[in-house]
Amino acid sequence: MSVEVETVVIGAGVVGLAVAAERASLGHDVLVVERHPAFGTETSSRNSEVIHAGIYYPEGSLRAKLCVEGKKRLYAFAEEHKVPFDRCGKLLVATNEAEVDELARIEGRAIRNGVGDLTRLTMAEANRLEPEIRCVAATLSPSTGIIDSHSLMAAFETRLLDAGGQVAFNSEVVGIVPVSKGEFRLSISSAGETSDLTCARVVNAAGLGASRIGCMLRPAKSEYVAPKLYPAKGHYFALSARAPFKHLVYPMPSPDALGIHLTLDMSGAAKFGPDIHWQDDIDYAFIDPNARHAVFAKEIKRYWPGLPEGALVPAYTGIRPKIYAAGTPPADFAIHGENEHGVPGFVGLYGIESPGLTASLAIADCVARLLD
Ligand SMILES: Cc1cc2nc3c(=O)[nH]c(=O)nc-3n(C[C@H](O)[C@H](O)[C@H](O)COP(=O)(O)OP(=O)(O)OC[C@H]3O[C@@H](n4cnc5c(N)ncnc54)[C@H](O)[C@@H]3O)c2cc1C
Repeated sequence: MSVEVETVVIGAGVVGLAVAAERASLGHDVLVVERHPAFGTETSSRNSEVIHAGIYYPEGSLRAKLCVEGKKRLYAFAEEHKVPFDRCGKLLVATNEAEVDELARIEGRAIRNGVGDLTRLTMAEANRLEPEIRCVAATLSPSTGIIDSHSLMAAFETRLLDAGGQVAFNSEVVGIVPVSKGEFRLSISSAGETSDLTCARVVNAAGLGASRIGCMLRPAKSEYVAPKLYPAKGHYFALSARAPFKHLVYPMPSPDALGIHLTLDMSGAAKFGPDIHWQDDIDYAFIDPNARHAVFAKEIKRYWPGLPEGALVPAYTGIRPKIYAAGTPPADFAIHGENEHGVPGFVGLYGIESPGLTASLAIADCVARLLD
């Protein structure tokens, strides 16, 4: 049996590129297949660019474990490869007494997840760090930071190419057939033509397209069904004025989103979001900016009463690739290998929403273990 490429990674988002770069750097022959003309044009460029500490996710979950591991690996990678980042820290703010109890619950979960550096702040201590913030108490997370996600993906791509890997842009995977043990035939559509490519291993890192690809593969375990996608859009507003903050500021989370928070980018510009809007399809349109503006202003003023009038400008949206329906318990990252579907050499990544950017290098390690 001879295959044309050893490993094909479907999707050039931050996760697919991290998986491909790590695998190529270990000496494997890797091709990334991406349907768009450039990397990172979907979820990986429509997020908050926060390096999360790992404080929110249920104890023992993949999201908790891979976030904490991924954060350490990401800071080290960014340092080594000169990717712009800032370990600016974040304040999680309680705006009333009931939220102080929630702060305590989150702090307890953080410790169980291995995040031992949180500090509880009084109102006065929080105001010494951020004079414009209104809260009754806050928790400081010093290991939270921000990163330039485009530069990060460019660094992963460079690492991949330097190790002899390749990226095929404008190429959409439209079919997968496991031919024999250790051989897959992929159908790839490019410039109106469909051609076949054989490979020994496949990583499905297609983000919002992952469920569709998962369904193309006939599982060896007849009861296996690839997780279904439930897209959940988040809107962002940019702050047109100068931001008077040095830290990220987060309100209390809800079960399926982290709340309308303030994040900064590497140039110091501030944005707020994302909210959550469940939908049936993948549509990035900014829905009803006026009504949404009123909701954002109200939420933000709970912790920043000084938000200037007219300073919020509709910015962009991102879509979370959730694998659970609205109103049902949140799902963990689903990283499915042979144990789940019975097909050796195929790993599917489903539901890689936040903190997928933070966890990208830890996910790459996890995929490597499943492939080998
Ligand atoms: C609103 C929002 C805010 C977030 N904030 C943060 C944050 O602050 N910190 C954090 O750590 N995480 C955050 N995340 C999560 C993070 O952005 C994602 O986990 C991460 O970007 C997922 O990367 P990916 O490579 O899996 O997917 P994607 O970036 O979606 O990449 C998948 C790629 O696969 C390609 N593709 C799909 N189907 C095919 C096909 N058939 N053939 C070829 N190519 C295909 C797509 O074109 C795409 O380029 C956020 C997510 C959202 C939506």
